[in-house]
Amino acid sequence: MKRVADGVERLAQFPLPIFNVYIAGEVLFDAASTWDRRRILRQLRGRPLSLLALTHVHPDHQGLADLICRERDIPLACHTDDVDFMEGRKDIFDVMAVNPILKRIQQSWTGPPHRVDRVLTEGEEVGGFRVVHAPGHASGEVIYFRDSDRVAICGDVIRNMSYVTGFPGIGQPPDRFTYDPAENRRSIRKLADLGPSVILPGHGPAVTDMRTFRKFVDALP
Ligand SMILES: [Zn+2]
Repeated sequence: MKRVADGVERLAQFPLPIFNVYIAGEVLFDAASTWDRRRILRQLRGRPLSLLALTHVHPDHQGLADLICRERDIPLACHTDDVDFMEGRKDIFDVMAVNPILKRIQQSWTGPPHRVDRVLTEGEEVGGFRVVHAPGHASGEVIYFRDSDRVAICGDVIRNMSYVTGFPGIGQPPDRFTYDPAENRRSIRKLADLGPSVILPGHGPAVTDMRTFRKFVDALP
């Protein structure tokens, strides 16, 4: 575990933080992929949990949701616009334009459907964080924002990792996994307008240099 903000830790991943899962108090944010099962369960052993909250329902964020919620007997929360995907009434691959090989890989990351016990909408509070709807990458994508110290858990609104080299670098999520890149750019600006002090993305290390983030936002089309 690595402390990434006051009272917020990121579960360890070797050699790089590729599929991020955060824990703040008793709330777990995101559930990686089914391939992360041993890594995640080992680190959660002995940790009290009262809720699993997803930033969005994509295979690399919901993979272990069903397993964790059943094993730990905790409720699952996600935004109202992603409930159909989480509960299995809609297939995420119908809206993601991925090629057959990527589809096969991502399908193997995907965990089973699970009932959403807590359906989130804009402005609700989750473990001290405020729900900010940020669609574009996923329709039910949210930023969890803590107003007291401006910590943003942003899912895949931005990434801080090159998918080619693995090195840190702020970028938009890849178009092929994003149903509406222009809409996601509006969500990036929404994130910037929150004035975050640190951004905790779904992929890559924490973004702590806000001048670099601001430059990235200003250069967006
Ligand atoms: Zn992702």
